[in-house]
Amino acid sequence: MDMTPDDFPTSAYIGGEWVTSKDRFAVVNPATGLVIASVPDLTAADARRAIDAASAALPAWSAKTAKDRAAVLRRWNELILAEAEPLAQLMTAEQGKPLAESRGEVAYGASFVEWFAEEGKRAYGRTIPTTAASKRYVTIKQPIGVVAAITPWNFPIAMITRKVAPALAAGCTIIVKPAEDTPLCALALAKLAEKAGLPEGVLNVVTTRNARGVGEVLCADSRVRKLTFTGSTEVGKVLYRQCADTVKKLTLELGGNAPLIVFDDADLDQAVAGAMASKYRNAGQTCVCANRILVQAGIYDRFADALAKAAQSLIIGPGTGQGVNLGPLINAEAIAKVESLMADAVKRGGTVKTGGAKDAAGSLFYKPTVLTGVTADMDIVGQEIFGPVAALIKFETDDEAIALANSTPFGLAAYLFSQNISRAWKTAEKLEAGMVGVNEGIFSNEVVPFGGVKESGLGREGAAEGLDEYLETKFICLGGI
Ligand code: ADP
Repeated sequence: MDMTPDDFPTSAYIGGEWVTSKDRFAVVNPATGLVIASVPDLTAADARRAIDAASAALPAWSAKTAKDRAAVLRRWNELILAEAEPLAQLMTAEQGKPLAESRGEVAYGASFVEWFAEEGKRAYGRTIPTTAASKRYVTIKQPIGVVAAITPWNFPIAMITRKVAPALAAGCTIIVKPAEDTPLCALALAKLAEKAGLPEGVLNVVTTRNARGVGEVLCADSRVRKLTFTGSTEVGKVLYRQCADTVKKLTLELGGNAPLIVFDDADLDQAVAGAMASKYRNAGQTCVCANRILVQAGIYDRFADALAKAAQSLIIGPGTGQGVNLGPLINAEAIAKVESLMADAVKRGGTVKTGGAKDAAGSLFYKPTVLTGVTADMDIVGQEIFGPVAALIKFETDDEAIALANSTPFGLAAYLFSQNISRAWKTAEKLEAGMVGVNEGIFSNEVVPFGGVKESGLGREGAAEGLDEYLETKFICLGGI
């Protein structure tokens, strides 16, 4: 079977039906500004129907054995991989990332399906030594129930599969509300899940421009037992509050402000390669992108020169272009934000070493930028840049670097570069972050737990922890023995 992006659905998916609506919204290619397709602009009432469908599907799906659920998930994984190329093309068309990165994300996204298909079989309970001769204690793990997932545009496939795959493997049913900018990948995934034999209502996709209204329904409905969200801290806090009345379990993957620390004793090439990967991947639009690059005084100038040189070698253009490794930003607001952060930094004394302006490739392209002389008073230090701007801050001592790194309400990823294992280990322990890369700029995959501390969120995705998020522990006391 060979699908082209044109073959992918443009209807929403509720209860096994492909749902249309007279109200639709356009999906735009950020590289060209052209409309690719339109999808249904569903309402709060449609969201309720999706909850009805997911609730109706729950008893049968949760009653299946993990082995039977795994068989469906494995077929889904195979279909995603079989359609990897058209899916990657679709992703680049709606999201803008270079084709090589889209191909990487399809494989990365599928890896969660493959892995959780198997991990679902290992939802073990415990037997606990008794405290009374007449009693025996055991715990069992059970699916939490209907799940709602609200997902972002920056990883249109992986941010869905790393929620949906563990939820389904655990025996939950799910409603996905994808980001407005990238609904097509979500619908394509649903199509492939349908082909894989996923029963109706187990996975539902509600496309809408009314994120707020649909979000309110998903949070308020007591049948939804869990909300899993990836997106901004601002929206995450709203959802957290909205879930209080029904005391839902929550996974929140929120914003980051990742420090990347380069110590004097770092391997310069390794540090530059790590910073390049962490900073410019997806044009800087990931929540784990290095946001503040803290460089020790002794290596500062050499690092800044080498990073600027590497940044200048990036090829900017539409994601489908030959050799392109820096695509457009997602939309006009994203460009406006980068421009305003840059203006503020320059006004306060920052120096543009390279880049520092929009690129002629199109209205949403921003040049790979290296900014030196960055200081704590600049907006760029406190906010998520979400663009291809490397902000370099100079420090003198280890304690100063750690204090700077931790001086933020966020705590998602952190990176450090040093050849001294003792210094690297001690620093990794002191960083307030859910994940630390030591001499590595990219570390996320399906077998390790991804998530943050402080205002970067709650819970973990991937790994055994990622399955646990969709399970409840039930204690059973067997008495009268
Ligand atoms: P970003 O700034 O990366 O777009 P957002 O947090 O705004 O991040 O969006 C992430 C997801 O949250 C998207 O699917 C978006 O539609 C959704 N969203 C935005 N606002 C709300 C809201 N008030 N309630 C529910 N979902 C929302």
